[in-house]
Order: sequence, then structure tokens, then C-alpha cells
Amino acid sequence: MASAGLKGIKTIRDLSLEGKTLFLRLDLNVPLKDGRITDETRLRASLPTIQYAMEKGAKIVMASHLGRPKSAADKEFSLEPVATRMSELLGVEVLLFDDPASDGVKNLLTGLKKNQVILLENVRFVPGETKDSEEFATVLASYVDVYVNDAFGASHRAHTTIHALPRIMKEKGIGFLIEKEITMLDQLIDNPKRPYLAILGGSKVSDKIGVLEKLMDVVDGFLIGGAMAYTFLKAQGHAVGKSLVEEDRVRFAKEMMARVEARDKSFLLPVDHRVTKGIKDTANLRTTTDVAIKEDELGVDIGPKTLAQFGAAIREAGTIFWNGPMGIFETPEFSQGTFGIAKAIAASNAIKIVGGGDSAAAAEASGQAESMTHISTGGGASLEYLQGDKLPGLEILRPSRKSS
Ligand code: ADP
Ligand code: MG
Repeated sequence: MASAGLKGIKTIRDLSLEGKTLFLRLDLNVPLKDGRITDETRLRASLPTIQYAMEKGAKIVMASHLGRPKSAADKEFSLEPVATRMSELLGVEVLLFDDPASDGVKNLLTGLKKNQVILLENVRFVPGETKDSEEFATVLASYVDVYVNDAFGASHRAHTTIHALPRIMKEKGIGFLIEKEITMLDQLIDNPKRPYLAILGGSKVSDKIGVLEKLMDVVDGFLIGGAMAYTFLKAQGHAVGKSLVEEDRVRFAKEMMARVEARDKSFLLPVDHRVTKGIKDTANLRTTTDVAIKEDELGVDIGPKTLAQFGAAIREAGTIFWNGPMGIFETPEFSQGTFGIAKAIAASNAIKIVGGGDSAAAAEASGQAESMTHISTGGGASLEYLQGDKLPGLEILRPSRKSS
């Protein structure tokens, strides 16, 4: 399967920026705790494009979403802490503009100084954003000359600032982050070194079971851990206790496994677990002797036998894609499996790519991030791209084929 990659898409290097007003869609969607940024990876990943645009003399209007606010009244989703931090990282003044749905930003632009950039408040405060609204796009387009998307992590969503806006813009392209992300992920699509192993885990079971179906066409084997594993184990008839199971996916999981088997792909599930009695209960933590989990217990991590088995498969792999932690790694007592897998991946000679917000955080926390070939800033986006889906935010930047 050959991907269309970046074919035909302009990068910010191809666009003339001097004196132009640039709409820069970024992914500044960082995790916050009590108003503090707990991981600024995405902020740092955005810097090269912003700095380039500043050097080239553009007037910059940055935009991003943050979380999933219900309305503009959800102040906990304000980009204010992001504006403050970006100001420090960039060494310029970041002016936060409160009302992204209005064109009042025009006045700000008129007096904008060289050492100032504008950041629109959370675009999801505008109800039209997630509806790919033409009306909202028209307001934004009324005051910008050039559109650049560098929000890789949001490019799988056809939202206004990702899709409707560039659809009506003439001058448009991508930033350095998307360019790097796609170039890296294309290594897995166009020419993966075999065997190609997908390691999947995490908690978004229903999201990811679907991914399996498509990844089946490209990979040689799967390692399944995290909460996701219990739905499969249940489908195999094992006792999973109180572990997280998506009941309405058990049948689907069963069908999936039959299809994987029919195609002679390897599919490894945990053979033992770290279990306890509650999601926060570290006192009753123990390791099971085998795959079965008692009625009053739940799995919070893969066990040591599983780690050894998974480790052996990882050592054989030529290409590794990892999405989803093997357990509740945020709790140190439950992190052994996830960190063990991170270590095994780091030690392998494979092309190793990590995707997903929590997986990236896990790779970082394990101390193994430096050894990965690439850590993607986008979870959903990287999954959709790898499984062969087109990203709306990328496709809209490709010149449409002439109807001959
Ligand atoms: P990513 O962001 O990398 O795509 P997910 O968001 O799907 O990953 O999953 C990450 C979350 O899954 C983590 O917060 C982790 O605590 C949780 N998780 C992993 N294993 C389990 C488990 N056994 N039970 C409950 N939650 C789990
Ligand atoms: Mg996540």
C-alpha cells in the first residue's frame, strides 16, 4: 500500500509570508491539572513553525482547541495557561483574544508589534468549530491571507479550523511538525521492515478495536495489553473479574480473533496480570499465577510472564508501532508492565514509532523516549493515518485533481 503522503501539499517554506497575516492552526491541546500544564510536549513541538513564521515577517494568529468544552463558559478549558507558557517559550508577547467567533481581532492586528503574536481562545468555545461551519470559517478567512495547519493531532477531524477554513483559503500549506509526522509514519506504510508488530493497549477500547480490523491488513502480529485486553480475554471465555470490559464489543472481539487466526497473524494476549481490588487500591496489589482473574479483582497491569513473552516478540520485530499503555501506568505501582515494554522497544533495532498522548507520556516517564525512532504527538490522527484513512486536514490542502 503506497500512501499519498505529502504529495502536492505545500509546506510553509513554499508560502510567501512577509507582511501577510498567517492563520496558524496548532495542536496546543495539553493536559492540565489545576490550571497547570503537566506535559508541554505539544507546545515545544509547535515552536519551529511559529519561529519560522516570525522570522519571515508574518503577522501570526495562532489557534487551537483544548479538551472538549461544552460551552465558552467552561473556563477550565481556557487557553490562558498555554498563552502564558508560549510567551515564555517564544520570548514574545502572546495576546490571548477572547472571542474567536468575532472579527474583532482585526483591530488587534492593525497595531500588532514585531514582538507580539495573537492566540485565539479555544476554538471549541465556538459551537460551529466541531460542525465544520462555513459561517465560522468565513469570519476567520476575512482577516487572514495565508493558512497553515501544523496541528497533526487534530488533522483527523473535519472541524472548521482544520477543514472548512482551508477549503476557502487559496494560500495554504502545512508546518514543520505535520511534515515530520507524515514522513515518519510513511515509513510504516510504504516499506515496513518485517515482521511488523502493533502493540496496542490503553483504555479507549471501542476506539481501538476498530483499528485492529484495518491494521490486520498491514501488520504481521499484535500484542494486546492494557484495559483493551480484557474484552478479548472475556471473548475467549476467561474470567476477568471486575476488569474494564466493553460488553458490547465482546462478540466483535471474538470475530476479530478468528479472522486474525485465519490469516496466520500472531495475536498475543496477557497470560498473567497485576490485579487489585480497586482502581486506586495499591495495598491489595498482587500478581496472578495465570490468566484467570478473581471475581473481586481487576487487572491494572500485565504480569511478568506476559512481559517476558511480549519482550521476546519485540526483540524479533523489524517495525514496531506502539499505541496504548499496558496498564494504569500513572500509578507507579501499576507501571512495571508499561515501562518494561517501553524498555524492550527502546532496546530493539526495529523502526519504533509511538503514537498517542498517554503512550507518549508513558514513553517519557519510562525514561526511554530518546531511544524511539519517533514519538507522534497525535494519537487518533496517527492511528487513522496508519490504518490507511485519509486525514481531512491534510487532504483539503492537496490541490484538487483537474476534471479532464
Ligand atoms: P493513548 O492516549 O496513548 O492513545 P489511551 O488514552 O487509549 O492511550 O489509554 C491510556 C489510559 O489507559 C491510561 O490513562 C491508563 O491509565 C489507562 N489504562 C491502561 N490499562 C488500564 C487498565 N487495565 N484498566 C484501566 N485503565 C487502564
Ligand atoms: Mg489518551
